[in-house]
Amino acid sequence: MTALLPDYRDPALTARFLAAAQALLGPRGLTSDPDLLAPWLTDWRGRYTGRALAMASPASTAEVAALVRLCGEYGVPIVPQGGNSGMAGGATPDTSGEAIILSLRRMSAVRALSAAEGQVVCEAGVVLQTLHDAAEAAGMRFPLTLGGKGSATIGGLIATNAGGTQVLRYGTMRAQVLGLEAVLASGAVFDGLTVLKKDNRGFDLKQLLIGSEGTLGIVTAACLRLLPASTARVTIWAGVPAITAARSLLRHLQARLGDALEGFEVVPAHCLASVLAHQPAARSPLAGAHGWHALIEFMSSRLDPAGLQEAAEAALAEAMEQGLLDDAVIAANDKQADEFWALRDGISAAERARGPAVQHDISVPVEKMPEFILAASAALEAEFAGTRAVAFGHLGDGNVHFHVLAPQGAIPGEWETREGKAISARVHDLVCAWGGSISAEHGIGQMKVDELARLADPVRLQMMRAVKQALDPAGLLNPGKLLKP
Ligand SMILES: Cc1cc2nc3c(=O)[nH]c(=O)nc-3n(C[C@H](O)[C@H](O)[C@H](O)COP(=O)(O)OP(=O)(O)OC[C@H]3O[C@@H](n4cnc5c(N)ncnc54)[C@H](O)[C@@H]3O)c2cc1C
Repeated sequence: MTALLPDYRDPALTARFLAAAQALLGPRGLTSDPDLLAPWLTDWRGRYTGRALAMASPASTAEVAALVRLCGEYGVPIVPQGGNSGMAGGATPDTSGEAIILSLRRMSAVRALSAAEGQVVCEAGVVLQTLHDAAEAAGMRFPLTLGGKGSATIGGLIATNAGGTQVLRYGTMRAQVLGLEAVLASGAVFDGLTVLKKDNRGFDLKQLLIGSEGTLGIVTAACLRLLPASTARVTIWAGVPAITAARSLLRHLQARLGDALEGFEVVPAHCLASVLAHQPAARSPLAGAHGWHALIEFMSSRLDPAGLQEAAEAALAEAMEQGLLDDAVIAANDKQADEFWALRDGISAAERARGPAVQHDISVPVEKMPEFILAASAALEAEFAGTRAVAFGHLGDGNVHFHVLAPQGAIPGEWETREGKAISARVHDLVCAWGGSISAEHGIGQMKVDELARLADPVRLQMMRAVKQALDPAGLLNPGKLLKP
């Protein structure tokens, strides 16, 4: 398709494009009102603010397809957007004002839910919490959750291949997607919603779109797997002597309770102290002081609550005998379990309130993670005087959030601008040296696009660029994200 709009800053052509888009989408489907656009031009963390020609909000897959064709005709770049809760600036347009935001939020229907088949088909704009509620009403559960569940949409979760706190047992978003519908840069609709247990017609094309951050196509709907609701839940807060002991505890619990182990999060003493200072009503679950804490959750749809608790208690007693934990408390009820999770989920906000930090979302092989944390923390603290490194999160997935906290007295904003790039480069170099990934679950977006270009294996980059070129030759889908042109 030849772009009609080689210079779409030409006001007459811009006006023609906007009029055509308005005619296509109707009065609710397009806005250029700065007040309506403003909340969607800055990312969730407030790191990036862009500009946009307009925000389009199509109501159907056919409208998305027609709009994408129109954008292709006029050469207008498209920034797909769901709940705008992403962590890497992927849904924020650049500052040129030349792109449109394509919001999927109006496409929020749960098209079909079958408890018998364990499947739900929902549109891209369905919010994760809404999906949880719909599944629960049918006696089922959707096995992926994360702190942003009130905003994150199914399309965004798929586009970023989000993880969350149940990856240990159920995998990332990729493992939940059974089928996918997407609009390609050409405006063609990829209809891959039908679920086939076996299908060997070559490439599994939906996998290309999962994790592609809006650069290869626009997800309009997905068929996702549902599981029977759990009948038993046991949530434990444990004090552990060292991060290496936490890994041994993880292995021990996996061996004892198999796949009932659903979550295993680590929290260093520093992070717990930050949360307790930030949330005055919060209490430490354990009386004593511990260097590390583990938040452990077992779920079962097979065992009754008493049976699961008994098995968990026996495993904990063995672990204590082996010196893998110092102390532990089992949540007495769901409310207390939720309070334990609130401590974990409150870490990012509490650390932000405590002072400036440079944050990283990294993974290395699970077995290496404790040694990586110790080695990387020592290296960073030695090389950047006065800093402190803290690592917390999904130890069971080999994924932690690795924050380097500013020295006392550092000026917020000024310190990150001066030191941030060098600190992140050092962390990422170490991650690569340990065979890990510079983005475990948040994606690349615009935040890590330079780092991916710097550090990725050239063969990986070459393959990614070839796929991008094949599916989006004009480069109109989310330019500047994930891959540098
Ligand atoms: C409090 C909080 C906690 C979080 N915790 C976790 C966590 O534990 N684990 C984790 O993995 N993530 C976590 N996240 C981030 C989470 O991954 C994102 O919130 C979510 O995946 C993005 O969904 P969204 O609808 O907001 O997408 P957006 O932020 O709008 O977009 C994210 C990316 O996806 C693209 N995109 C959006 N919709 C589509 C679509 N329909 N088709 C194609 N591309 C699209 C965008 O262009 C952008 O590149 C957390 C977020 C918050 C706010």
